[in-house]
Amino acid sequence: MAAWPAAAAGGEPCIRCGDCADACPEALPPARLAARLDVDDLEGALELGLMACTGCGACEPACPSGLPLEARFREARTAAASVLEKRAVADAARERYRQRAARLARLAEEADAAQARRIQRIGAAAAAALAKARAKRGGTDA
Ligand code: SF4
Ligand code: SF4
Repeated sequence: MAAWPAAAAGGEPCIRCGDCADACPEALPPARLAARLDVDDLEGALELGLMACTGCGACEPACPSGLPLEARFREARTAAASVLEKRAVADAARERYRQRAARLARLAEEADAAQARRIQRIGAAAAAALAKARAKRGGTDA
């Protein structure tokens, strides 16, 4: 069961009236967003659309409990932006590593194939030389 915006955050406890959701022009669920933030669940808040909050503040005057919704969302967006930025940097590094590993694997495969072709060529040349030598000796040493 999700927690709901606590009175400790400022204001009275949430009575789950839904007025904040009705007032939100982005069709976000402000009370549920605040509930996620109450339990430090930033991922949950992100899934509910935290970053789509424009900070318009329309939810706050609509709240009969006087909860400081917009201020909390603003603070959480700042924290989330930093998390998302770090995640993007880590994702980019992982992608660079993946591409480098793929490039090295491709180069190793190409080197193996070239080596196999060289061995084949040398083998064919050696066989031809042997056949030529036998022919010169009149084919008597079979
Ligand atoms: S501040 Fe955010 S959650 Fe509140 S009404 Fe505006 S967009 Fe919706
Ligand atoms: S308007 Fe306030 S009391 Fe009503 S659901 Fe939203 S946060 Fe809770």
